[in-house]
Amino acid sequence: MTSSLLPTYARYPLAFARGEGVWLETAEGERYLDLGGGIAVASLGYSHPHLVEALTVQAGQLWHTSNLFEIPQAERLASRLVAASFADTVFFANSGAEAMEGAIKAARKYHAAGGHPERFRIGTFTGAFHGRTYATIAAGGNDRYIEGFGPKAPGFDRVAFGDLAAVEAAITAETAAVLVEPIQGEGGIRMPPDGFLQGLRALCDARGLLLIFDEVQTGVGRTGALFACEHWGVSPDIMAVAKGIGGGFPLGAFLATREAGRGMGVGTHGTTYGGNPLATAVGNAVLDVVLADGFIAEVAAKGEHLRERLEGLAVDYPDIVAEVRGLGLMAGLQLRVSPAEFAAAGRAAHVLVIPAGDNVVRLLPPLVITPAEIDEGVRRLGQACRALSATVADRRAAE
Ligand SMILES: *Cc1c(COP(=O)(O)O)cnc(C)c1O
Repeated sequence: MTSSLLPTYARYPLAFARGEGVWLETAEGERYLDLGGGIAVASLGYSHPHLVEALTVQAGQLWHTSNLFEIPQAERLASRLVAASFADTVFFANSGAEAMEGAIKAARKYHAAGGHPERFRIGTFTGAFHGRTYATIAAGGNDRYIEGFGPKAPGFDRVAFGDLAAVEAAITAETAAVLVEPIQGEGGIRMPPDGFLQGLRALCDARGLLLIFDEVQTGVGRTGALFACEHWGVSPDIMAVAKGIGGGFPLGAFLATREAGRGMGVGTHGTTYGGNPLATAVGNAVLDVVLADGFIAEVAAKGEHLRERLEGLAVDYPDIVAEVRGLGLMAGLQLRVSPAEFAAAGRAAHVLVIPAGDNVVRLLPPLVITPAEIDEGVRRLGQACRALSATVADRRAAE
């Protein structure tokens, strides 16, 4: 099909017309079990009645006013995020990359406000992903995303993910902060080594650096905690969130302690749409569900169930699945075939998964998935593995 869209994506020849819970349906009525959740965005699945209600009620009242005015929905969402986290203050944006841009600017401004504008460099990690804007591609450090776009934004010093000694060695008098995803998402569901996040916190405290967590993918209940960093008992100074917080409506935010936000006074940063009444009404509705008693504990329990099932898959298909990774409902299968080939076999079995780096496919299902739907999803992944096993065997025989 010829498309008028800029061809920056190699799209699958598949379109959906409606969705309900964890299921997506084509116009022809073919149903797919979505273990990708629109890349961790559809945290409450599709057509969640509480989100539909919140959106349609707000849509009938007021969509947008601009940040020149008070926005009660944004005030409420910010104070709920503050009450539930390390943070004292919140800035709303429309995406993960914008949330990250704000986080980077706040970290630099913190030092400028303290009389050290020369401290602008930020320590980052191999395998990281922080978005596709000019600063965030430099922070992510993936050459495929950087090349050809002119000089890359300066001030990002990359070391191996998990290597605390390398971080320490890379710190100079110009270093402002360290930026890390508690669990790397797009990089391939890479878990932090034991003691790594605690070590980063101690290092940042000892050297007067801010610690920035990118929880755009891991946040808002995904890992079986409201924020993934809680699993390690570590709080950042600044945190970016997006994806799951809007449940499909574009919404991002950066959260900060009072101290870390000290440079960000009137006029230092802005956005036309960020935190508008429509977006933050939906964000509040997401929190109504995610913060309800027992919801996150249930995500943790379902995460363990998923893990067990995936371990079973790895045992049944050792020629396809090399390793199971992740935490909560953020899981990865490291493969012995290509992630694209695996995802295609999944689509043939009507189950959706998402390729990532490190030869991994990601499973980021809606947090409302039931244990029975997990079983059905993994059964379909087994079907995909069986088909791939046969293909791999044929390929070997032909060699
Ligand atoms: C998706 C993602 C981003 C970028 O979010 P966008 O909404 O696509 O701009 C940033 N950081 C992480 C960890 C992500 O997973």
